[in-house]
Amino acid sequence: MPVFKSPQLQESLRAARELSAIDLIAQGLISVPLSARQQQAYDDAVRHAAEIDAKEREYYDQLPAQIAADNKRVTDELNAGRLYLANEHSDNAAATVHFASCFSVRHQVDRDIAHVFDRETEPGAPDGSWHAGPGVDYVAKWPNLMTLDEVEQLSAYRACQLCNPDTKERKKTATTKIKPSKLSSITIDRIGREYETTSGEYLGILESYTVSADIIVLHCAERDYRGVRDSLVVLLPK
Ligand SMILES: [Zn+2]
Repeated sequence: MPVFKSPQLQESLRAARELSAIDLIAQGLISVPLSARQQQAYDDAVRHAAEIDAKEREYYDQLPAQIAADNKRVTDELNAGRLYLANEHSDNAAATVHFASCFSVRHQVDRDIAHVFDRETEPGAPDGSWHAGPGVDYVAKWPNLMTLDEVEQLSAYRACQLCNPDTKERKKTATTKIKPSKLSSITIDRIGREYETTSGEYLGILESYTVSADIIVLHCAERDYRGVRDSLVVLLPK
């Protein structure tokens, strides 16, 4: 397509810094002849954008009521004695436990603050964060409030160092149930780990292993252990 530099185009280049391409086309600042398919795609995009705007409108209209209801729910939980907050981590690390009053979780407990980045940028104007949908991008996660008893029932947790909650332990580690693994699952990163037999005989640190057609031999510090691929052996926790 040939590039032509009309005054209109100059104007549109300036405006493009502020407006999306769809806005520019809608305002006639970009006018190119469209094929039927392009026209269809453009109409679809405009309709899609309008649907998103309407959804945002609906979301922001109900947001104050939602926040008020959420704050009431939090208050009810606190009044029911759930004065601790356990934040689970996506990497499976032990949850961090706080007093619900901890400064570092205030943005979760106070739902007004939780939604502080979720406001309209100016009255009547949706914030345009429609990639993820309204309310998805910036809302602090729901406070997982618990009683102290419920906290102590967690298999693992770590007490926040800032608010120092009065949990029994500073760091509770999960007592992992040791499950035997098959000899065929041994990989090089297991070297240096300790093993025992399923009957509880200590084999010591794995120094190397040999795999042949159907026999696998673990060369451990105490003694060698040999078996077929499905033979079981117990990897001791680090
Ligand atoms: Zn804390």
